[in-house]
Amino acid sequence: MRRAKPNDRAVDVPRRVRNEVEIVLGQRKLLQRLVPGLAHAFVFWGFLVLLPTILMAMIAAVDKHAELPWLGRQTWFGWMVDLFVVLVLAGVASAVFIRKAVRPARFQGSHRGEADFILLMIAGVVATLLCWHAAAHAAGLNDHVGPLSAALAKAFPSHGLEERVFVWAHLAFVLGFLRYLPHSKHLHIATAAINVWMARTSRPGRLEPLRFDVPDDELRFGVATIFDLTKKEVMDGFSCTECGRCQDACPAWATGKVLSPKLLIMGVRDQVLAQSGEPILGNGVPEQMIWDCVTCGACVEACPVSIEHIDHIVDLRRSRVMVDSQFPAEAEPMLRDVERAGNPWGKPQTERAAWAESLGVRVLEPGDQAPEYLYWVGCAASFDERAKKSAESTAKLLQRAGVDFAILGPREACTGDPARRMGNEYVFQAYAAQNVATLKEQRVRKIVASCPHCFNTLANEYGDFGGDYEVVHHTELLAELVRDGRLEPKPGAKPITYHDSCYLARHNDVRMEPRELVAAVGRPVEMKRSGKKTFCCGAGGAHMWMEEKGKQINVERAREAIGTGAETLAVACPFCTVMLDDGVRETGSELRVADVSTLLAESLTSAADAPLPESSG
Ligand code: SF4
Ligand code: SF4
Repeated sequence: MRRAKPNDRAVDVPRRVRNEVEIVLGQRKLLQRLVPGLAHAFVFWGFLVLLPTILMAMIAAVDKHAELPWLGRQTWFGWMVDLFVVLVLAGVASAVFIRKAVRPARFQGSHRGEADFILLMIAGVVATLLCWHAAAHAAGLNDHVGPLSAALAKAFPSHGLEERVFVWAHLAFVLGFLRYLPHSKHLHIATAAINVWMARTSRPGRLEPLRFDVPDDELRFGVATIFDLTKKEVMDGFSCTECGRCQDACPAWATGKVLSPKLLIMGVRDQVLAQSGEPILGNGVPEQMIWDCVTCGACVEACPVSIEHIDHIVDLRRSRVMVDSQFPAEAEPMLRDVERAGNPWGKPQTERAAWAESLGVRVLEPGDQAPEYLYWVGCAASFDERAKKSAESTAKLLQRAGVDFAILGPREACTGDPARRMGNEYVFQAYAAQNVATLKEQRVRKIVASCPHCFNTLANEYGDFGGDYEVVHHTELLAELVRDGRLEPKPGAKPITYHDSCYLARHNDVRMEPRELVAAVGRPVEMKRSGKKTFCCGAGGAHMWMEEKGKQINVERAREAIGTGAETLAVACPFCTVMLDDGVRETGSELRVADVSTLLAESLTSAADAPLPESSG
């Protein structure tokens, strides 16, 4: 830990305190799954409440007539001990039932024997505590016990021998547990609270930048060996409980890929514990794992101890790409086109605003006055035929509502997001600097972005390079225009299911506005995996340009949408449009895939002066 690289995680103390209260004390993330969450919460809360009894037992072991000052004479505490012994035993019994009878797949790959032993130890600690209290009460040594201990005392003789046996048995379990702790996954008892404290407080979609303007000995090019890990990354490994919640939520794992975020973190931890100087990839972590990731963030959202899997994966990619020049061959054209042409489609920048020519959209020229909103179109909506429809619809809607907006046209370059998620931080930072300079030259303050990936980069990442803007997603602005009566959609009754983009809903918490728009034009039908629990379309993390082997994520998601019985699958991301349209076609279904903006444009009560675009489905 001493040799680990520093993280800038000391700021925003009030938020960190709140995380401790909510995530650690309140067990908020664990309680996302009620039964296993309650089982763990009972054990954890019991651990906190029963902590003083260890001291009490130590005192009593030396002198059976001595007691902990004040607390040792409180009857209410005796009742608390009884109550939490029962709750802990109930928690342990539920955990055993889940592990042995239910046997969820999320435990695949975890150290199950170790978990069984720990559950046995916990049961031993509280059972001997209860018996010690009961035996002490029977021997007239403790009058401050709860009703359960008092009832149990009737089973014990009054000569006090059992009191000696159980106080020492209790301490033996406690000391045995403490001895075992540092070598087991239960080390998280000591590390989880620290890990939650160190967790990022910025939006989860932001990647921490690599700094290339520092002295050579501070330069960092991602992670190759454990000695490149940051303090947070080391602490992540020590905090993993092997609960498998991340694995369960991971779309790569769900579609049979090599990647399991749990096994990845366990692999990093094993390398740290072994103090191995070997490369992490190929030793603790299989190489393919890092390329399977779509950076959807489902693992981070699910993890009860705030482990940040994406940081590990991107850091491992960074080293592979920037130091070793090794990455999947099919990503090479994308990286080359971003670098050479300014967009991953490899199209000439002069064609970037072709979609807007017939619409009369203002293209900003150097020296022009800044509009109220700069419309950041993004590469996908500029160059992909299916994704272009959402740009056309959005522009027409903004025109209809009288919003003052303009686009950068050929001077808008790729934000660098796909290169960054792929691991090429150099290229990303070059585009960040170029785009921030262009936006500064045009004095842009407010941006509306259609692509959630651009939205995330502009809102959360360009700030690290001097670009601070008020950024909204097009669904947020359109919902506001509908609320203000500046756009008046015609209500419809057709069933529409909305797919949350990971970079919109999970990474940036934009969930309600797209739904407002869907509800304004049709009858919303929710998929089971929605909102922050959405299932990726398969395009994130530069996977839009990578070949997916085996079962496909987009087809899996398309099937879920088809299963709702909806006639339309609404999306709010150009990548989702393309991926899910492909996924639906693969199934042979007639389900229509359309951006929310297109659905809104179609539903306007008056065609007035803005002809509607063709539908995307
Ligand atoms: S970000 Fe998504 S794909 Fe990547 S490991 Fe996490 S859950 Fe899996
Ligand atoms: S990384 Fe988090 S969610 Fe995944 S197994 Fe470890 S503790 Fe559980």
